[in-house]
Amino acid sequence: MTSLDYSKNQPATIYLDHSATTPTDPRVVEAMLPYFTTIYGNVSSAHRIGQQAHGAVEKSRETIADILNCTPDEIIFTSGGSESDNLAVRGVGGRHFITTPIEHSAIGKTICQLAEKQGAEYTLLPVDDTGKVYPQDLREIIRRDTGLVSVMYANNEVGTVQPIAELAAVAHERCVLFHTDAVQAAGQLPLDVRALDVDLLSLSAHKFYGPKGIGALYVRKGVKLSASQTGGGQEFGYRAGTHATPLIVGLAKALELAYAEYDTRVAHYQGLRDRLIRHVLNAVPGAILTGHPTDRLASHASFIFEGIHGQFLIDALDSQGIAASGASACKAGSHAPSSVLLALGYSPELASASLRLTVGVQTTPAEIDEAVGAILQCVGQLSRVVAA
Ligand SMILES: *Cc1c(COP(=O)(O)O)cnc(C)c1O
Repeated sequence: MTSLDYSKNQPATIYLDHSATTPTDPRVVEAMLPYFTTIYGNVSSAHRIGQQAHGAVEKSRETIADILNCTPDEIIFTSGGSESDNLAVRGVGGRHFITTPIEHSAIGKTICQLAEKQGAEYTLLPVDDTGKVYPQDLREIIRRDTGLVSVMYANNEVGTVQPIAELAAVAHERCVLFHTDAVQAAGQLPLDVRALDVDLLSLSAHKFYGPKGIGALYVRKGVKLSASQTGGGQEFGYRAGTHATPLIVGLAKALELAYAEYDTRVAHYQGLRDRLIRHVLNAVPGAILTGHPTDRLASHASFIFEGIHGQFLIDALDSQGIAASGASACKAGSHAPSSVLLALGYSPELASASLRLTVGVQTTPAEIDEAVGAILQCVGQLSRVVAA
């Protein structure tokens, strides 16, 4: 099988929540299978079956390093994006952190905990109403004792892409380390860590058609990191635990495919995203596009519908077979306004009225048109409920 076709499994669902997770590409599953059942040895074992697994893990590391333009020993395998973010923040540590108010909670909550429990300090970079941060603001707030600056490459809720290389350059002017959470960016933006000039970068396989429960952290050679998890000394001593060989192979295969098919995929996403944004803004009364109008992820459309509660809209769409989300998936079911939209300056009422639609490899123009029709209908019904 060379293309993604999930229609057999999910006939009724129009899945527009690829920022929450993606299905695993069948080619990735196929690449993983032998490492469950045949080449199941422990990577640390000296015998042949262990060494075959070891070979697969090291080949995967090389594949990833090639795409990131780094060396294999700069890649650490983790259990996913959250762990990579935790390892970056906790591993680098320091007296003072700089981050943004719109990071994923794996960064935000981790820094808050270090502030509460260990007396660390942090400063938040301002964001404008599109979610952009500015290098000049970083220059003004960076301190002599800043240990780490962490700014996400692209936002998971509104899709805004940040000027990472410019921000990293400012951090480096002051000899401060720079981390980026590239979990949403992977597969849609270049991941060349030399061009981005970052010291640490987080990835998660399940956001680009790889398996759940596996990720990586790029750590530039020479960066001093303390281990997040101690034990058997795997992953250069930074992250103990028996290697998840099938998942590691799946991560590398998914990243390889994402960049081998990069141009086609990104063009496909962009066409669908633009169709979606155009039709929603034209057809649905009170629709507002959130995030940056152009510097946004290729797959990502996000809206506010004035006067509608986002959670009711998501439930109504779900009953019509359309899988969408409001804020990020981690906050699903929560009726609190989106903290990202509040940080962008929206009122609590508007920040509760959000809808995020993220397209994927298997999404079709017909699905987009059907989704727009359903949104129009659901928004109409919900606004009548409010008016009544
Ligand atoms: C999904 C996501 C994460 C968490 O990754 P997991 O592998 O699910 O732990 C971190 N950061 C961003 C921006 C994400 O979108």
